[in-house]
Amino acid sequence: NCKNADDVLKAVKDYKISFIHFWFIDILGTLKSFQITPNELEAAFEEGMGFDGSSILGFTRIEESDMVAFPDPSTFQLAAWRPSDRPVARMFCDIKNPDGTPFAGDPRHVLKTQLEKAAAKGYTMYVGPELEFFIFASPTDPTIMDVGGYFDAPPLDLGNDIRRDIIFNLDRMGIAVEYSHHEVAPSQHEIDLRYQEALRMADIAVTYKVIVKETARKHGVYATFMPKPLFGENGSGMHVHQSLFKNGRNAFFDAGESHNLSKECKSYIAGLLRHAPEFVAITNPLVNSYKRLVPGYEAPVYIAWANRNRSALIRVPMYKPGKEAATRIELRCPDPTCNPYLAFAVMLGCGLKGIDEGYELSTPVEDNIFKMTEDEMLKRGISAVPGSLNEAVANLEKSAVLKEILGEHMHREYVKAKKAEWDEFRMHVSAYEIEKYLPTT
Ligand code: GLN
Ligand code: MG
Ligand code: MG
Ligand code: MG
Repeated sequence: NCKNADDVLKAVKDYKISFIHFWFIDILGTLKSFQITPNELEAAFEEGMGFDGSSILGFTRIEESDMVAFPDPSTFQLAAWRPSDRPVARMFCDIKNPDGTPFAGDPRHVLKTQLEKAAAKGYTMYVGPELEFFIFASPTDPTIMDVGGYFDAPPLDLGNDIRRDIIFNLDRMGIAVEYSHHEVAPSQHEIDLRYQEALRMADIAVTYKVIVKETARKHGVYATFMPKPLFGENGSGMHVHQSLFKNGRNAFFDAGESHNLSKECKSYIAGLLRHAPEFVAITNPLVNSYKRLVPGYEAPVYIAWANRNRSALIRVPMYKPGKEAATRIELRCPDPTCNPYLAFAVMLGCGLKGIDEGYELSTPVEDNIFKMTEDEMLKRGISAVPGSLNEAVANLEKSAVLKEILGEHMHREYVKAKKAEWDEFRMHVSAYEIEKYLPTT
């Protein structure tokens, strides 16, 4: 548990560390890494390590491509999935311009900006994500490993050994797990992380994905976070539990209010509901993400909130007396392919917007929305989340609120990258089209 550069330098000596991986994240959430030897470390803390930003997606700036990575000593950990003799460590980096200012295309910076805004009002954001994943034969072969379902135990659950090794690796990196289980779909799994402060958790989410994939690889199989790999089965979500604390108390709890939710919490929910159409391009970033957001697979489709209803976008787990600290809301749309820094930033930004402007919260919808007719939904003012990446990106592009949260650079580069992704998909002729149209036209 290092706090500063001196702690790290000492740990590197004590543990005889051979390499230090410098990690950072591009705008799409892809992990980038370069390795340095311990000799370089002291200088890296002082001056940062330069690299060519123009080769990193979304980092390109016409006028300036030299960037500098500054390691964050508080993120120093031994890489649990690497051999323990001559161990390897990793640190997350903040990306700066050569003049020392933070780089606007660094997702960590975007999240930090929102966290500072929250801190100025006295709030700390805590998040607990649930990242689901599938285990398949290989990256090119989605053959399932087991036919288990929700909470099935071995022998139906064949991922048990892999999940155990994943949890050991997480534990060795100081990442606390609440529970793990087989998920609803065959060969699908979930490991729930104990809630944490948001920046820390975004770092953890990145680390979790590496550990899941590396551990599966050692077992000779392939783990994927693809949102909807199997037609007709549940997809993989990343539900995000979230709360704001103020002066050490949960600001979402108020025993004197309906549902035991404070006014701030209600406005926060209202902020998420109102701006969801604008932020889903961030929380659900792939063409494939929108194949998960369809009725019938426990993924949300409608923009509403509820206590129990899992078809709503936001669920508020029922309050348990004496458990004020556990009061939280669960946003159910994100999937694990999102960039967690940007995802947490847009959630917090939109929630704070709701609080700042005193948004009013609509009544909860407890009836199963999937059984309502379109007329009933219209009457209750319930709309659906965007049906495609194309629609979501168009909403994001138009959104002044999201542009403000992401900053101009990030907003522009993200929209550009996602439009290109959609165009690539749009021009592609799929197996589905050949199968459906060739024999009939
Ligand atoms: N897999 C579902 C989703 O796509 C969630 C299922 C669950 O956690 N109960 O969000
Ligand atoms: Mg869960
Ligand atoms: Mg789940
Ligand atoms: Mg959940």
